[in-house]
Amino acid sequence: MAQVGSRLDPWVHSYAARTGGMTASEIRALFAVAARPEVVSLAGGMPYVNALPLDAIADTVARLIREQGASALQYGSGQGLPQLREQILDVMAPVGIHAHADDVVVTMGSQQAIDLVVRIFCDPGDVVLVEAPSYVGALGVFRSYQCDVRHVAMDEQGLDPNALRTAIADARGAGKPIKLIYTIPSFHNPAGITQGPARRRELLEIAQSAGILLLEDDPYGLLGFDGTVPQAIRSEDADGVVYLGSFSKTIASGLRVGWAVAPHAVREKLVLAAEASVLCPSHFSQYAVSAYLSEQPWMEQVAAFRELYRERRDALLAGMESAFPKGTHWTVPQGGFYSWVTLPEPLDATAMLPRAVSALVAYVPGTGFYVDGQGRRSMRLSYCFPDPERIQEGVRRLASVISAELDTLATFGPAGPAGSGSTSSPSPDLA
Ligand code: PMP
Repeated sequence: MAQVGSRLDPWVHSYAARTGGMTASEIRALFAVAARPEVVSLAGGMPYVNALPLDAIADTVARLIREQGASALQYGSGQGLPQLREQILDVMAPVGIHAHADDVVVTMGSQQAIDLVVRIFCDPGDVVLVEAPSYVGALGVFRSYQCDVRHVAMDEQGLDPNALRTAIADARGAGKPIKLIYTIPSFHNPAGITQGPARRRELLEIAQSAGILLLEDDPYGLLGFDGTVPQAIRSEDADGVVYLGSFSKTIASGLRVGWAVAPHAVREKLVLAAEASVLCPSHFSQYAVSAYLSEQPWMEQVAAFRELYRERRDALLAGMESAFPKGTHWTVPQGGFYSWVTLPEPLDATAMLPRAVSALVAYVPGTGFYVDGQGRRSMRLSYCFPDPERIQEGVRRLASVISAELDTLATFGPAGPAGSGSTSSPSPDLA
C-alpha cells in the first residue's frame, strides 16, 4: 500500500530512518523567545564577541582582501590552510599538545569535526559513551548517525571512572561495539566541571585498556579563570585520542573555524570525509583567523575574555547565593560559560520554563543534555553573554519563579492548582 504523507509534510514517508532521530533541541526552540530584548537569557552559549577589537579586525580583513584576495576567496585544501595548521600548533601549545601540522585537520567549527569523526567511525547501533549530562550539539550528531548513546555518571571531578568501567562492561556483555568515549574534560558544557590531571590519566587508561578511541572536545580549554590551562588528555597519548579545538570561544564563533588533531590514518579518513561534506573549510575564514593570529595580540584578547567571563561567573554565583531557595544546588565553574543548577525535589525545570519566560528569564532545561529523559530537575545557566547587572537581574527573576514553584507545591502538592500545575507542557513557542 502506498504510504501517504501528512498535510504538513508530504515527504514524511521518504525520509531516511536516521532522520527520525533529528528533532529540534530545546535550546533551538528557545532562541526565538529568549532573543526578545526584555528577556534575560541565561540560555544560549553565545560568546561575547562584542568585546573583540572590531575596528582592528576590520582593518586586518580589508588588508587581507586587498593583498591576498585572489587566494582567500578561492577554494582551498580539504585539510585546511597550511599556514593556519602551523599556527594551530602554537595555539595548542598551552594545553600541552605537541603535534605536526600534518596531524591537524581544519574544520567548520568543532561541531563539524564531531560530525566527521562520527561519520568515519560509527554505524547505526554502535555505542558512544558520553557524560551525564553532555553537550547537546554532540548528542544531535550521535543521534543523527543512529548511535546507541549511553550516558555515564559524573562526579565533581567529571566522568566517573567506575561508572565508565561498568558502562563498558555492560555494552560489551551485550555484544555491542563501543566506538567512542566522548568527553569535555575542561569547563564542561553543560556541567561546568573540570577533570583534574589524575582523573584524566585514569580515564585515558580505561580507554586504552579497553581499546576505545577517546574523543576529547576542548573548546573552552584556554578560558580558565585563574589563567591555568588544563593539560589535554591528548598530550598523554597521540594514538588513542582525537582532540578537537575551536576558535569559536577565543576569537569568533561566526567565523566557523575549528580543528581536529588525529592519529595519522584517522586524519586521512577525516580529510576524505571533510571533502565529501564541504570540499574544503571556508578558505576566507581560515585566512581571516590566520591574519588575526599573526597581526593581533590574540593571547591578550583571550586573557581579556577570561577576565570578562570570570566577572560574569561571579555575578551569577553571587546572585544564586543570595536569592536561590534552600535546596537548590549548582556547580562552581573554574572557566568556560556554564553552571549546572539542580532544583529542590520535586521541581521540574522543563515544566517550569514557560513560567520563567513569562517572568522574563530563560534557561535551558536539563533534559536537553540527555538522550534518555534524565535531567528534569536540572538546568544549564550560561553567563557568557549578558552583562553582570543583567545576570543578577535574571537570577533574581529566576529565584522568584523557583520560590513561587515551591510555594505552589507546598499549598497544592505535586499536582499543582487545578487547571495549571507543574506538569504542564511548555507553551507552543517553546515546544
Ligand atoms: N563542543 C562543545 C562542548 C561546545 O560547547 C560547542 C559550542 N557550544 C561546540 C563543540 C561547537 O563549537 P564550534 O562548532 O563553534 O567550534
